[in-house]
Amino acid sequence: MDVLNALTVDVEDWFHVSLFRHHIKRSEWDTLQSTVVVNTIRILNLFDRYNVKATFFILGWVAERYPELVIAIKEQGHEIASHGYGHQMVYEQSRAEFYHDVKKSITLLEEISGEKVYGYRAPSYSITRVSMWAWEKLVELGLEYDSSVFPIKHDLYGIADAPRFPFRVRVQGKGELIEFPISTVPIFGKNIPIAGGGYLRHYPFWFFSNGIKRVNAENKPTIIYFHPWEIDPQIPRINVGLLKRIRHYGNLALMEERVIKLLERYRFGTVKQVLQTLPPPQAWPRVGPGPQALKNHENNGMLHVHQQRKSKSENR
Ligand SMILES: [Zn+2]
Repeated sequence: MDVLNALTVDVEDWFHVSLFRHHIKRSEWDTLQSTVVVNTIRILNLFDRYNVKATFFILGWVAERYPELVIAIKEQGHEIASHGYGHQMVYEQSRAEFYHDVKKSITLLEEISGEKVYGYRAPSYSITRVSMWAWEKLVELGLEYDSSVFPIKHDLYGIADAPRFPFRVRVQGKGELIEFPISTVPIFGKNIPIAGGGYLRHYPFWFFSNGIKRVNAENKPTIIYFHPWEIDPQIPRINVGLLKRIRHYGNLALMEERVIKLLERYRFGTVKQVLQTLPPPQAWPRVGPGPQALKNHENNGMLHVHQQRKSKSENR
């Protein structure tokens, strides 16, 4: 049988994206025209048509304002997961701020849906080398998986040498979680994203689709993501300069059709379902070349986040 891939939607409004964080103030969010409900409903109808279940990483800010949307997602049998509350980059928050931001979102989502939340995705994949401490907080919050690491080089995010497939992170004395990195294919020694979002909009479709095929041929799953605003060419425009405009607004009209083509070609399910199909994931990082902070604190190939943090502050 074909490999089951994870289908995910980051439920947020067009003005929440990190690309705009220096252009739109948080205090303005409530004054802007929201399109998240109508576009998420459109996605729910689409998934219903293809009889596919997905994981929805919902922003707490959205859940608080539109609880009926969370209920609609749940009632269609999809998985409810957390995208944090205020869409701040992990590495731009203190550990305490991050903990409270995620906790607030989990509390909201669990109260509205009546179901336990197991998964988290950071805004803009902002768990990087400098914010790996976030995993410790996620374990403390009782989460079982995270999907926030992009194993690529990028200006906003990425851990270029992270594993490409789900791995285990053990936090000393607290437990562990599974990290499901965003999908890539290696091309000439570099990991190229085949994970959705802007990549699905901007790459030629055949390239993207071949990437998924290649990963599935190795009997491995991909994880695909997109945002409700990405299927809506009518979202309000703001003037942010050419490059950001292309990144945010480029090819929106093509997106829905591309998602449909993926649903027709590949098998998809929720992150939880996909993780259940996998053999127990390996721990990461392994002993070997890498930043000193990690190399020094290996123990049986496990990353002991707590120990790493403690030793780092002792060294200061
Ligand atoms: Zn986001």
